[in-house]
Amino acid sequence: MLKRAWGRLALLSLFLAVLYYALGALTLWLAAEFGIVTSLVFPAEGVALAFCILFGPRVAVGILLGQFLLALTSGLSIPAASIVASVNMVEGIIGVLVFRYLRLSPSLSRPRDCLGIFLLIVVLLQPLSASGGLFAHWIEGSIPPGGFQSLWVSWWMGNAVGQLIFTPLLLTWFHPSRKAGFAGLLAIAGTILAAWGALFLGPFIKLDSISTLVITYPLLISIGIHASVSNTARANAVLALSIVWLGGFGLGPFEPLSMAARYKYIVFIAVTASGLSMLIASMFAQHRRLIEQLHKLSYIDSLTGISNRAHFIEGAEAMVLRAQTEKRPLAVLMMDFDHFKKVNDTFGHAVGDKVLQFVAAICLANIRKGDIIGRLGGEEFAIVFPDTTLAEATKIAERLRSAISATGIPARDGIEINQTVSMGITDLQREDTFQVALNRADQALLQAKRRERNRIVVCDGGASDHEGWAEVIPFATPAAATPQGAAPALRTS
Ligand code: GH3
Ligand code: MG
Ligand code: MG
Repeated sequence: MLKRAWGRLALLSLFLAVLYYALGALTLWLAAEFGIVTSLVFPAEGVALAFCILFGPRVAVGILLGQFLLALTSGLSIPAASIVASVNMVEGIIGVLVFRYLRLSPSLSRPRDCLGIFLLIVVLLQPLSASGGLFAHWIEGSIPPGGFQSLWVSWWMGNAVGQLIFTPLLLTWFHPSRKAGFAGLLAIAGTILAAWGALFLGPFIKLDSISTLVITYPLLISIGIHASVSNTARANAVLALSIVWLGGFGLGPFEPLSMAARYKYIVFIAVTASGLSMLIASMFAQHRRLIEQLHKLSYIDSLTGISNRAHFIEGAEAMVLRAQTEKRPLAVLMMDFDHFKKVNDTFGHAVGDKVLQFVAAICLANIRKGDIIGRLGGEEFAIVFPDTTLAEATKIAERLRSAISATGIPARDGIEINQTVSMGITDLQREDTFQVALNRADQALLQAKRRERNRIVVCDGGASDHEGWAEVIPFATPAAATPQGAAPALRTS
C-alpha cells in the first residue's frame, strides 16, 4: 500500500518535471525565436502550482527537477540553476500550504477562493519567485546595469499571468463545481467567437485599441454570469492566449502600439479580466447554491430529510387526482411512533431526534420509487402508494413496521432503542379527496393505538359493514409488542 503511494508520488513528480520543462522550454523558445512577448506568460508555474494543490506539496520535487534542467539549458550555471529551481520548488510548497491554511477550495466556487488565490499568486508567490530568480541571475552577473527593476516587474507579472490563467484552469478542471451543460459550452463558444471578432474587426471598424479591448470585458462578465466557474476559467485561458498571440505579433488592435505598450495591455487585460470574470462566476455560483439550499428547505423537513407537510400534501393531492381520473388504485398510510414522549423523557430530545431520523431512513429504504412519504408533524409520518391495492400496501406496511421495530437505534451508554410504530391504512374510494382518505387512515391509526400499538389497522374504504372498517391485522407478536404506557423496548448491546 505504502509502496504504491510512493510509486504514484514518484510518477506524478516525474510527470510534473517533464511537463514543466516542456512548457518552459516552449515558452522560452517562442520568446527567443520570434522576439515576441510570450515569455511574459509562463504557463509552467501555473501548472506547477495546480499540481501542488491537487496532489500535495511533495510533488514539488518535480518543479525542482524540471526548473533545474530548464535553467541549465537556458544557459545558467549549476549554482544559479539550483537557486532558481529551489526557489520555485519552495514557492510551490508555500503556495499549497497557504492555500490549505486559508481553507480555499480547489473548485474556486466561492468569491473568497478566487480572491484568495489571486492574492496568493500576485502578492506572495510571484514576488518571491521574481526575487529568487533575479538573485540567481545577479550571481551570474547577467543583469544589465539599471535593469533590475524592469526585469523584476516583468518576471513578477509574467509568472503571475501564467498562474492566474493556468492554475484555475487545472484546479476547476479536476474539481468542477457543477457539470458543464451543452448549452453552457455553446454560450462560451459563442462568447469567445464574439470576443475574437471584436479583436480582429476592431482595426477595420476604426475602433482604437483600448475600446476594442474593452469590448472583451462585458463578454467576460457575461461568461462569468452564465457559465460555471470551470468554464469561465477555460474561457479566460482562450481569451488570454488569444490576446497574448495578437499582442505578441502586433496584430489587430495591437498593431499601432509599441512593444512596451502592448506588453502593458496584455498583462493588464490578462490579470484584470481573468480576476474579474472568475470573481463574478464564483459569486453567481455561490448565489445559485444558496438559492438551491433555500428551495430545498422549502419542501424538505430538515430533521428527517423527507417531504414536509405542505410539500407532501401537494404531491399526495396530485396523485389522488391522477388515480381518480385514471381509475387506478391508491393506498394511504398514517404512522405514529409509540410512546415517543417516553423516549424524549428518558434520553432527551437529541436522542428523540435521532430516532426520528432512523425511522425516516428505514421508511425511505422500504418504500418504492413512485411512493411518497412526508412528515405531517411531530412524530407522525404519512405515505401514499400510487397504483397499489389495499392488500399490496398492507404487505409493504407490515414489512416497514417489522423493519422499524427490529432496528436497534443507539441511544447512549450502549443502550439501543427498539422504537415501534402504529399504522392506519386505507384505500382510495371513488368520491374521496386526499383529505377524506387521510382522515380514514387516521381513524384506523387511532384503532391501532387503542389495540396495544405496534400494529397495523386496515380500513377497507369500500366495505359497507362495520361502518367501512376496521380490521385488525394481528401482526405484532406478543414479545415485540410494547405494553401500554411503557417506553419502547430497550435493548442493551
Ligand atoms: P402514543 O403512543 O400514544 O403516540 O404516545 P406518544 O408518547 O408518542 O404520544 P404523542 O404522539 O402524543 O407524542 C408525540 C411526542 O413527540 C411529543 C413530542 O415530545 C415528541 N416530538 C414531536 N416532535 C418532535 C421532534 O421533532 N423531536 C423530538 N425529539 N420529539 C418530538
Ligand atoms: Mg406517538
Ligand atoms: Mg403523535
